[in-house]
Amino acid sequence: MSERLFGSDVTFQQRILKSAGLYPGLIDGLWGPLTDAAFEAFFEKTEEIAEELGTFDRRTERNLTALQLPAQRAARRFMARVLADGIDARIISATRSYDEQNTLFRQGRFGNPGHRITKARGGQSRHNFAIAWDLGIFEGGAYLQNAAPYDRAAEVGLDEAIEWGGHWQSFQDRPHYRLAVGLRISEVRERFEAGEPYFGEEAPGVDPAESAAGEAP
Ligand SMILES: [Zn+2]
Repeated sequence: MSERLFGSDVTFQQRILKSAGLYPGLIDGLWGPLTDAAFEAFFEKTEEIAEELGTFDRRTERNLTALQLPAQRAARRFMARVLADGIDARIISATRSYDEQNTLFRQGRFGNPGHRITKARGGQSRHNFAIAWDLGIFEGGAYLQNAAPYDRAAEVGLDEAIEWGGHWQSFQDRPHYRLAVGLRISEVRERFEAGEPYFGEEAPGVDPAESAAGEAP
């Protein structure tokens, strides 16, 4: 079951696990006993966090459990505050491998059907590093797109561990949240690809205007 958390890209999964400090092996794209054990450890910690901070609807759970562990903590606390305010919110998207991001990028480009929904290629979004999530707000089962309920969710849900896309200067992305890690995306990408940590248990925040510069959501 845990093998399916991050899709079928083993290299991507090993980078997540190694950055989390759970995988001592090489990032070689080969599934072996060390990768397997790291997944079990990751999954156990995920269950501990869920037990401590509460669980949500199935879609939210599927997305939450594919985030890095400190992001899981931040997102669960966030969701609890938003739901306590009476907002019908779910996490509708979270971690995407580079391949999945590239597939999304091609939508609406190069003659492909659909609307363009991202400006980021693989490795250009914090979703690719398992530290970002997108919120969907619903009313009577219908997905809401107007700004007001998203502003309200941020008002009640944010804390110092989280950065919100609605605070960006150039392009406001109200459904978008991410773990504050105090690093530029190029630094996060370098560390992720090397399997080095890019977040702490207590991650510092960064100036949102600065951190959003040159970065696609
Ligand atoms: Zn997003």
